[in-house]
Amino acid sequence: MSIKLLGKVLIKSTIEVKTGMRIGGSTGGLKIGGVDLNVITDPLGRPYIPGSSLKGKMRSLIEKKQASNDANFWNKRDRQGNIVGHECTNSNSYTKCPVCKVWGILGGNEISVPTLTRIIVCDTYLDTSSITDEMKENLELEWTEVKFETAINRITGTALHGSLRQAERVPAGARFKDSEIIFNVFEESDKDLLKDVFVAMELLEHDYLGGMGSRGYGRIQFKNVEVYWNTRKDYETGNIDLKPERKINNGWDIPSKLVQNFAFLKSKLI
Ligand SMILES: [Zn+2]
Repeated sequence: MSIKLLGKVLIKSTIEVKTGMRIGGSTGGLKIGGVDLNVITDPLGRPYIPGSSLKGKMRSLIEKKQASNDANFWNKRDRQGNIVGHECTNSNSYTKCPVCKVWGILGGNEISVPTLTRIIVCDTYLDTSSITDEMKENLELEWTEVKFETAINRITGTALHGSLRQAERVPAGARFKDSEIIFNVFEESDKDLLKDVFVAMELLEHDYLGGMGSRGYGRIQFKNVEVYWNTRKDYETGNIDLKPERKINNGWDIPSKLVQNFAFLKSKLI
């Protein structure tokens, strides 16, 4: 199998938070006046969406979808032996696997063919103008709100002792701008795999990003999606740009429309 770059698809979007979102940080309680469970922030102290969180969530949603067609798909176990997901362990399964080809594998297995990850998901930063003055009046912290969360004993229905925690979250209405997902096309058949990226975006809109999803946290929507295609030749001639003629999504600016019209989008990848 020969691997050469045919081109790159760039998917730009705005991510809008529909219900308070908590992607956990690591400094909880260490900051002065810090809350118990803080959100991850950039060097300017603003919440952001790490590309690894978004990529990991998209992968797990596609894995779940794939597993519903194939009972043996989930094969990866943690140290305790619990099934935690899927990862190909040999070349034969890898060359046919839509998940590992797009989202990558960790190595340390016996795959002898090239295993280049197709997708790159970038960090996405807060559009500070989306936190309006009116919203700020109701926020406990500069960009975020603080909720008290308890762990409930399911049998007695009472709060577990000592379980009251302050949880920081990004408020509904916040937007993260210029989200970028890059999809590398290395072989003709990769063009079909792009569809799963849009399907993952769709699935995520009906799931959650970050923690406490079962409590209703972390609903998001992708808006103003723009899809651009640049060929290898465009890169070789220094001719890459976000030019209107490179935009191939034809006005379809949400994930479901991109899935519906995928055949058209694919036909533009030449
Ligand atoms: Zn796989």
